[in-house]
Amino acid sequence: MNTIDHYNFAGQRVLVRVDFNVPLDENLSITDDSRITAALPTLKKIRDDGGSIVLLSHLGRPKNGPSPKTSLSNLVSHISTLLGVDVRFADDCIGTMATELSASLKSGEVLLLENLRYYKEEENGDHDFAETLSKLGDFYVNDAFGTAHRAHASTAIIAQFFPSSKCFGYLMAKEINNADLVLNNPKRPLTAIVGGAKISDKIVIIENLLKVANHIIIGGGMSYTFIKAKGGAVGNSLLEKDMLDLALGILDQAAQKGVKIHLPIDSIVADEFSNNAQTLTCLSHEIPDGWMGLDIGEQAIASFKTVINLSQTILWNGPMGVFELDKFSNGTREMAFALASVTNNGTFTLIGGGDSAAAIHQYKLEDKVSYVSTGGGALLEYFEGKVLPGISAIIS
Ligand code: AMP
Repeated sequence: MNTIDHYNFAGQRVLVRVDFNVPLDENLSITDDSRITAALPTLKKIRDDGGSIVLLSHLGRPKNGPSPKTSLSNLVSHISTLLGVDVRFADDCIGTMATELSASLKSGEVLLLENLRYYKEEENGDHDFAETLSKLGDFYVNDAFGTAHRAHASTAIIAQFFPSSKCFGYLMAKEINNADLVLNNPKRPLTAIVGGAKISDKIVIIENLLKVANHIIIGGGMSYTFIKAKGGAVGNSLLEKDMLDLALGILDQAAQKGVKIHLPIDSIVADEFSNNAQTLTCLSHEIPDGWMGLDIGEQAIASFKTVINLSQTILWNGPMGVFELDKFSNGTREMAFALASVTNNGTFTLIGGGDSAAAIHQYKLEDKVSYVSTGGGALLEYFEGKVLPGISAIIS
């Protein structure tokens, strides 16, 4: 793989596309810096070589132009502390200030540019905007896995201006290697655990996983469409009526391919979507009218754990229930701890980004699983079998 390990950056100005899209609280303080710390090894290597760095990132979704909430200036002091160097800041990602500051960088110095998404040209993948950005550096490194599925100016289009001076950073390389370990070279049995709200969001990934997985565990809201498709009664649980045929099709394909699909035997059902709801445990195919399944039950947890314990490789994407509400978080927490426990016994566990990653962080298990991906949408698209623009731009 074309990574920064193959280069020495002495005397080079390196444009590094990072994903510093971190959450900020009402005082504009960073509440979770993991996206910044994930890029530190790449930044350290470039500075240790004697290169300088121009950091490119977006923050939030600034649909209405610049605002204090989406300014990358909020990150300057924290990045300076983490890197141990005073990071400079250009309050526009293009223009005179960015040009002059980037030209003045000396070995080891770091410049952060203002939010790329203040220009619509970024998300439009504008060629000229990408070319303007490219002039700010001699070499291009992409270390932003979280945006690798977007063909934006700074994530993909820019790479063409660095035909032989571009590569992946360590984070991108790690993300790709870990995903490939599951997709292309898994120790078997390979189990995919898929959860979350909607089957329509995960249909392509499930279809693609049917080609590689031995077991697919389906939990969360989406499981009720499968259960209904099999003739079960799901009460008021989340149901996508227009997906019933597709769900049956998936169950058929799985049977033909010898992939075992595991649905939750029982559910915690509630009379309302709230922590104050009345709850019952019942079989997932016998949910009474007026009740909705919001978490998997004890029998489901036990049967899912049996599959987890016999697996050698596990991918987890999506919660088993409405884990944001304490009352319905048990299934997701049990899965998280089960994954940590089998990792300790040598099973490779890859946690998809988004809500599953949030759950792993919430239970402080990030060091007890094999890898927690930093990319929600990007990882999903990778497992859907798509070619990610941010990856192909470096490879081509
Ligand atoms: P996704 O973004 O598709 O991974 O879905 C994550 C969301 O699914 C979380 O906000 C969960 O609260 C929600 N979710 C999980 N299980 C259920 C369920 N049984 N009913 C309704 N929502 C659910």
